[in-house]
Order: sequence, then structure tokens, then C-alpha cells
Amino acid sequence: MHKEVNLTIKPQYTDEYKSGYPLITKESIANFDKIVSEGTIINLFDNNKKFICKGYHGNQNKGHGWVLSSTLTEKIDVSYFVSKIKAAIVYRADFYNDVNTTAFRVFNGEGDGVGGLTIDFYEKYYLVTWYSIGIYTLKDTILDALKSCVDFKGIYQKKRFDEKGQYKDDADDFICGEKAPTPLIVKESGENFAVHLDDGPMVGVFLDQRDVRKTIRDKYAKGKTVLNTFSYTGAFSVFAACGKSQKTTSVDLANRSRSKTKEQFNVNNINVEDQDIVVDDIFNYFKFAIKKQLRFDIVVLDPPSFARSKKRTFSAAKDYTNLLKDAIAITNKNGIIVASTNCANFGIMTFRDFISKAFRESNKKYKIEETFFLPKDFKVCDEFQESSYLKVVFIRKLS
Ligand code: SAH
Repeated sequence: MHKEVNLTIKPQYTDEYKSGYPLITKESIANFDKIVSEGTIINLFDNNKKFICKGYHGNQNKGHGWVLSSTLTEKIDVSYFVSKIKAAIVYRADFYNDVNTTAFRVFNGEGDGVGGLTIDFYEKYYLVTWYSIGIYTLKDTILDALKSCVDFKGIYQKKRFDEKGQYKDDADDFICGEKAPTPLIVKESGENFAVHLDDGPMVGVFLDQRDVRKTIRDKYAKGKTVLNTFSYTGAFSVFAACGKSQKTTSVDLANRSRSKTKEQFNVNNINVEDQDIVVDDIFNYFKFAIKKQLRFDIVVLDPPSFARSKKRTFSAAKDYTNLLKDAIAITNKNGIIVASTNCANFGIMTFRDFISKAFRESNKKYKIEETFFLPKDFKVCDEFQESSYLKVVFIRKLS
């Protein structure tokens, strides 16, 4: 059994916890030092010894634990996790029934009631990601619950809790069942993706961009030239090509992106020779494109929140406006810039300000065509909108 401790919430934070705020922070607790180890179950009381909620201790960059229940007698056992996982599965019934999309998120942390834990589905293989040592101490209980709820071929895991909150590469990503083929081919909106469940921190596709990819394919790509920046495995390029784009150009700094992008084109029967794959720093590429007077009908911008290359660091919060200006300079009139960010440090209003500033400083006009946030399977907790990190804006360059 997990250790349990009773702790007192500082008065100024009581209302927050009462209203369902799921993140537990050290600062909000009067006697947090009573906790000895991660994984400890915490019962939180107000100053008058009235029970408010219970959770567990786990250190993440975001905080120091997550609320699990508002019932004092609730046991955090297999049946607790079974009820959470079952509810999560019911919420994703449409995804389970969709033969054209066989990769989606089944369980999205605090959005589904258990912060620090996500579970993704890839063609009957499940991938569990643990975001703290605390949640990892509950591993056996959670896996027992998962196995009793789903019909699975195999289960994999990613541990994202080394000192820096990064992926822990200790080569035991496979947990049980059958091993998945490499690559495992999954479907998304009818197209294929090659997924590698046991090859480092990332599997080859970011599921949260599904609706954006489909929109590019169905509404924008036909006959267009597409520049996909920070392209990783070229997922946006694949969907543009499936939507009959004239040509795609994928640019990423990482050497591995070339073979990874070829693989994604190949599994979709798209002739790689018709597409450009460039391994380069995107900021060099922008200079090159301007010098050669290259222009594109669609430019996709999907940078990481932070990136360090040899010459510079990129921070979405500081540098997105300049990135947009680079994109504006090489986008055709009436072309589209798909501006995406997964940076949780600013919201959609600030992001729109970056867009407006970039166009103003470029002396160009624009119109926002549509905006995307996280898709349905990336369920967000109403009381914790901070976790709604994704913002994608389709911008038409008018002049
Ligand atoms: N758009 C991708 C995901 C991007 S992940 C998708 O839809 O799948 C971020 C990528 O940015 C990584 O592959 C990383 O190698 C790349 N990257 C980081 N800094 C870069 C830079 N300065 N120039 C080009 N690519 C960069």
C-alpha cells in the first residue's frame, strides 16, 4: 500500500482546490515537508480540518502532485484506475469505431482525472507515458487496470522523469504482450503513418495535429507549393501531398528527418523524388529562399517551444513574430501561413498579437481563416486551461 499523509492547505489556496483545480503545489500546502517520498497519497484539509481532496505527490516541471479524488474514503487502487480508464474509453468511442484513424490519445492526464499520466493507442498497441517518479510508483496498479479495460496486442511505456523532466532512455520501453512491428503502420484520416514505439522519446507523429493535417489535405493543398518548416518526419508534407499539392519542401535541422520523412512518403505510396527534403537550419533556409526568390503558396510553421541550434536559440514566446516575418517574406499573395505553437507560456490572444505585429512590421495585410486548439481526444480539464497548449492559426496573406 502507498503511504498516506494528511496535509493542510494554506487558507489563500483553499478555494482553488475546492473549485477543482487539479495541480498540487508545495507553495499551497502548509506542511508539505511531512511527505517523505514521491508516490505518497496526500489527503488535503482546510484550516478547519475539513477534507477537501486527495491526490499523490509527484514532481513535474508544472508542480508537485495531482489531485485524484474529492472523496476521503476513495482508495487509489486498481478499481479506482479502472473507473477512470473506462470513462476515458467511453469518451473516445468515436475514435475506437473509426477505421480510418487508428492512432489517438486514450487518456490525457488531468483532463481524464489523473495528472502525470497519458495513454496513447496505436493499432491495438498502447503507449503509457509516466511524467513523474510519483506516478511511476503506481505503475503496477495502473497497468493492471489498463489490462483489464482494453483488448491489446502489446503495451509500451515512456518515462519522462529524469532530473530535467526529459525522456529516460533506459531501453525498457516494451512492457508486455506482443512486440509491435517496426515500423508499425497506423492510419490517420485514411492515410498511413509509420510509427516506432521503441525508438527514443518520440514515436514519429504528433497526434494532437490530426485535425490540422486533415484540413491542409482537404481544404488547402490542392495544386499548391508547400514549405513545411521544423518538419520532423514530414507529417504535414505527407498530408499536403495526399491532398494533391504541386510539391512539398520539408526542412528540419536533424539529420534523421531525411530518412524519417522518406519513410512516411513511402508508406503512403508518394514518390519521394517529387518532393524536396532539406536538412538545414530553417533560418539559413529562409535566407537562401529570399536570395533565390523562392515563393510558396503554403508555409507551415511548427517550431518547438525552445530550440537550440549551433548558431542561435529559438524561443516561441520571444521569437515567433520574427519567424512569422520570415514566412511572410516568402509566401505568395493569397497564400496561407499555418502558424502553430505548442508553447504553454502564452495564450491565443498573445499569439494573435504576434501575428498582427509581424504583418504590420512587414507592411502586409492578412485575414485569419480558421483556428485550431487541441483535438477531442486531448481532453482538457475545465479547471486547468493551462494544459490547453496547442494553438494553430491559418492565416491568409492578402497583400
Ligand atoms: N512539425 C513536426 C513536429 C516538429 S518537432 C510535425 O508535425 O511532426 C520540432 C522539430 O524542429 C524537430 O524535428 C527539430 O529537429 C526541428 N528543429 C529545431 N530547431 C530547428 C531549426 N533551427 N531549423 C530547423 N529545424 C529545427
